[in-house]
Amino acid sequence: MDRHPWHCTAAHDSGDWQGRWRASRGLRVRRTLSPVSDPPRADGRYRAIVVGSGMAGLFAALEASALGPVLLVTKGELHEGSTRHAQGGIAAAIGPDDSTEQHLKDTIAAGAGLVDEAMARILVESAPRRIRDLERYGVSFDSEGASRAFGREGAHRNARVLHARGDRTGAAITTALAEQVESGRIVVREHTLATEVLLENGRTVGVRALDQGDGTACVFESDAVVLATGGAGAAFSHTTNPPVATGDGIALAFAAGAEVTDLEFYQFHPTAFRQPGAPPFLISEALRGEGAVLRNDGGEAFMSRYHELADLAPRDVVARAMVAEMRAAGSDHVWLDCTALDRVDPI
Ligand SMILES: Cc1cc2nc3c(=O)[nH]c(=O)nc-3n(C[C@H](O)[C@H](O)[C@H](O)COP(=O)(O)OP(=O)(O)OC[C@H]3O[C@@H](n4cnc5c(N)ncnc54)[C@H](O)[C@@H]3O)c2cc1C
Repeated sequence: MDRHPWHCTAAHDSGDWQGRWRASRGLRVRRTLSPVSDPPRADGRYRAIVVGSGMAGLFAALEASALGPVLLVTKGELHEGSTRHAQGGIAAAIGPDDSTEQHLKDTIAAGAGLVDEAMARILVESAPRRIRDLERYGVSFDSEGASRAFGREGAHRNARVLHARGDRTGAAITTALAEQVESGRIVVREHTLATEVLLENGRTVGVRALDQGDGTACVFESDAVVLATGGAGAAFSHTTNPPVATGDGIALAFAAGAEVTDLEFYQFHPTAFRQPGAPPFLISEALRGEGAVLRNDGGEAFMSRYHELADLAPRDVVARAMVAEMRAAGSDHVWLDCTALDRVDPI
């Protein structure tokens, strides 16, 4: 590239246009967090650029920062993303009666014959290490007495779901990782939308982005770009995902020539609170883990007709069963009967 390796140029000449554009989106001026506001490497390049500030992006930025200067760009504020909404917790086979082999079996069984076993093995075998990494970064998982507390969720035959601050697991993780990022030497640019992965001779050389604070187009250079932009749930009419989940990373990678695969696989969390006129919010599976039961409009607890694990069947099974029950009854909802829960812990 013959440009300066890190630069922003006005995307549009009219300051009024930029102001109107910003106001129309309710945007604050972009914050650059961290005491370091320019790339510290002599050639102006970053060791790595991370796009996205959910759990994946924050974690990748922290790990990469051990190798050199890192830039993290995120299109909203640092805490935005699905991660902070995650409730139930993270599955890892670290309990006394658990094993990675059992976790693998459960994962494969939940995948209805479509699981890539090698990938599932990586997932279950690395989960305990990632939990330790999160603890190293300051995440404090809930405990019961001297040992960790494990919840049980759909498709898991063991209680192996670690949670933090009750059902505020995602928020606890986001807070801890974001604190580490903000106190480190990672350059963070909020309200900066990655629009293109830049290539030269087929290799990544950086990212083009739009500064949503002032409407300028920016180029950031690095030969390592991590796309950690989360999912695309917001593309669907019914979702519990936040509005930032628009699948940008898939589009960026595809436009840069990457092969994309398995786009037909989207997980719909079966239960969300339905209140006409209000956005739905997720009702954690942990409630069914604690004894809440799905009932159809006739009051029948129907899940045992669909799967041996009844209300704790894999999510796709539960979601399809709910749709079948609603269609059969000509209804647009089912009920989640929580009367078996004898108490609700205040969080
Ligand atoms: C309500 C809810 C509950 C959940 N509960 C659980 C649970 O209990 N257990 C579990 O394991 N999983 C749960 N999940 C799923 C889990 O939260 C996600 O799989 C995980 O958080 C994804 O993390 P991520 O870092 O990949 O993406 P995200 O956290 O979504 O972060 C994506 C980031 O990328 C940024 N971004 C996107 N596009 C761009 C762009 N073009 N330029 C710059 N930045 C961009 C976004 O602003 C955001 O910061 C839940 C999800 C939801 C929505």
